[in-house]
Amino acid sequence: MIENVPPRVTISGVVALILFLAYSPQHSFLEPYITKNQSLFFNFLLANLWVSYYFAVTASPGSPPKDWIPTSVDELRRANAKLEAHDDGQPIWAIGGERWCSKCEAWKPRRAHHCKVCKACVMKMDHQGPWTANCVGMANSAHFFRFLFYCVVSMIYLTVLMFSVYGDLFENSDQDIHSMPITVPQMVHMIVLSPILFITGFAITILLVRFIIQLATNTTTIESWENEKYEDSMNRLRKKNKTWYKQLAYPYDIGLWENLKEGLGKNPLAWLYVFSAGGPEVYSATKEKKWDWERQGGGGVRWLVNGFEPADTVWPPVDVEKKEWKNVQFDENGSWEGEAVVDREKFEERRKKWEGTKEGLGGGVGEGWKSSAGESLADFGVDEDGEGELFPIGGVGDDDEDVPLGELLRRRKAAKAAAEEE
Ligand SMILES: [Zn+2]
Ligand SMILES: [Zn+2]
Repeated sequence: MIENVPPRVTISGVVALILFLAYSPQHSFLEPYITKNQSLFFNFLLANLWVSYYFAVTASPGSPPKDWIPTSVDELRRANAKLEAHDDGQPIWAIGGERWCSKCEAWKPRRAHHCKVCKACVMKMDHQGPWTANCVGMANSAHFFRFLFYCVVSMIYLTVLMFSVYGDLFENSDQDIHSMPITVPQMVHMIVLSPILFITGFAITILLVRFIIQLATNTTTIESWENEKYEDSMNRLRKKNKTWYKQLAYPYDIGLWENLKEGLGKNPLAWLYVFSAGGPEVYSATKEKKWDWERQGGGGVRWLVNGFEPADTVWPPVDVEKKEWKNVQFDENGSWEGEAVVDREKFEERRKKWEGTKEGLGGGVGEGWKSSAGESLADFGVDEDGEGELFPIGGVGDDDEDVPLGELLRRRKAAKAAAEEE
């Protein structure tokens, strides 16, 4: 598929398409129809388009530093207590949920995935973009957004300009073809260009609208996929056991305004400014300078959650195939609304019964699960082998098999140091 095409080819294709759609009309049929100001404005839009495309291709999506060690649970609890004291109901810091990336041999923060093309973990990875030959992640999603935005706006503007040509042709349609306002080759040019402009414009508008929805809900492409999988597995579970299970709320949606600021930058006036980086500052602690994550923000290694669920709820919460049951709750009332009445005993009973049936939830939920659009995680560039196991909250637990011994010792030492600090 497209990911097998070398970046040189896809990028050249995009550049050729922009050149054809943006400049060929200006030097042909459009020339006599546009004023100097219209031409200036159109070329200003195009300059923004080029710069944002350049950054979408070259800017790093943001990778977690290899020496980063998850913040201790106690430190996070303290920070959350401060936040909650300040204002009840504001976002709090997520606790735990880190994985170990066996490819990078480093900690993988929440929302990061190992990209098989970039060969690195990418913070808040959205997807490996085929047309930019780059990952869309925390640190460059503002550039990607602006690229789509300026594409759509320039194409709409070009269409408006072309309407005056079409209008003039229509008015002169009773004339002989050689006395039309534009020449025959120019007419052919316009007839060839129009459907390409329309199809490209339509496709990119869909991408832009989808990306804006994602920014507004703070949900990456990968997370949308995960959420659909979670919902699907919950539905199967309900059907299978003929019982309602409480579905956990998606944690990273912290309110429209905060979501947009997290995705595009703190200053809304700079959202369309092509030279602004947008997104949170990437974590970079040095020996000399400690990362003040409470002030500087999560830096892509710590994430704010809405607090609808406990701060230590991992996301996505349930992998039915791996039977991570700790977040599944049995709702005795069988209702969506209201407080769930959790009957632990009854739930365990059902769980045992379910685990006893070898087939589990049947096919389609495990590794090979595909979304309604027919996509698997690999379609977004995620290296599924590199996803890594989830660690128990607190960092040190029983299922440490995949963690190298050195890292284990380091973790134990860090946990001990944190305990002594108390
Ligand atoms: Zn990795
Ligand atoms: Zn990538």
